[in-house]
Amino acid sequence: MTALRLEAWGQAPVLRQVPVPVPGAEGVLLRVTAAGMCHSDLHVMDASAGQLPMEPPFTLGHEVAGTVESVGELVDAAWIGRPVVVHGVWGCGRCRRCLNGRGNYCLDRGAAIGNGLGRDGGLADFMAVPSTRFLVPADGIDPVQAAPLTDAALTAFHAIRPHLDGLAAGAPVLVVGAGGLGHFAVQLLAAHGVSPVVVDPKPEARDLASRLGASRTVADLAELAAGDVRFDLVLDFVGAQPTMDAAIALVAIGGDLVVVGGAGGVLSVGKTLGLPQGWSVSAPFWGPREDLEAVVDLARAGRLTAHTQTFALSDVLAAYDRLRAGEIAGRAVVVP
Ligand code: NAD
Ligand code: ZN
Ligand code: ZN
Repeated sequence: MTALRLEAWGQAPVLRQVPVPVPGAEGVLLRVTAAGMCHSDLHVMDASAGQLPMEPPFTLGHEVAGTVESVGELVDAAWIGRPVVVHGVWGCGRCRRCLNGRGNYCLDRGAAIGNGLGRDGGLADFMAVPSTRFLVPADGIDPVQAAPLTDAALTAFHAIRPHLDGLAAGAPVLVVGAGGLGHFAVQLLAAHGVSPVVVDPKPEARDLASRLGASRTVADLAELAAGDVRFDLVLDFVGAQPTMDAAIALVAIGGDLVVVGGAGGVLSVGKTLGLPQGWSVSAPFWGPREDLEAVVDLARAGRLTAHTQTFALSDVLAAYDRLRAGEIAGRAVVVP
């Protein structure tokens, strides 16, 4: 089969012919039906040795939809043929976070995060999943729609969910970056009666955000800094130094900054004598299985839609170049 392999830090990934994996006794083999391309993959490709808690070689692709092709000897054969999505953040299942339903914050994951991030992922014709714990049934959802739910939508949902109850309808909310994750965030907020302000330098991303429920779009955070609106919730889906510096200054008294993007920005916060501030800052990571089930249900009910551009696996490297160049609106999805 063909797989997109990251073979060493500092080298571009390559399409290789590799053997079809054999699932373990508690695992399954998936025929991949769609795999999303995340901006995090670019951060992984750019990383140097020791920066990330994982080691090459592995197959990229951590947003995976597939059909169960075969199962390990301890797995119920009723799984065979089922369309599923993969909950890709492979927790140990035993630590206090995993036992508390927070497997995305597993304390004992070893030198890998999950599929496509230290373990072989879904930018391939087939993929092995080590346990049915990591499968969520996705019957009734087009695979191209389903794949981006597993990270882009799940991460946006997990970032927003703790804040929803505290947000009055019409509350001022800011979304920085309306790409793969951000375009889901706009939909999730709009469904809650909140029309966010969206910042994105790309006209196509701003157009998409407007169609999905943004109240206003701007190209540059500086435009907002110059105004006097401050936000109850600021979601930074870029996480670069300039966006984080601007974002923290745009949080209203008693508001929250949620940093989701991983572009290397570092935040310096403190309490000053200009009290009161009452801010909170959080850095959520991906999401628990329960949240993936919730976004799958929303998609099945037609309340969450991935805006996608599809590519063949043979074109995946050109597609990543386009993602890097800012030429993708919504999510790029590979259909092997
Ligand atoms: P993407 O490339 O699809 O979207 C990023 C968007 O941000 C693009 O529309 C781009 O035009 C816009 N943008 C770039 N610079 C900007 C700026 N200065 N101000 C406003 N907008 C700007 O990326 P994505 O796949 O949505 O991922 C976004 C970030 O989130 C990446 O850093 C990725 O690594 C990270 N991520 C984090 C998690 C997590 O668990 N915390 C999960 C997935 C992705
Ligand atoms: Zn991702
Ligand atoms: Zn664990």
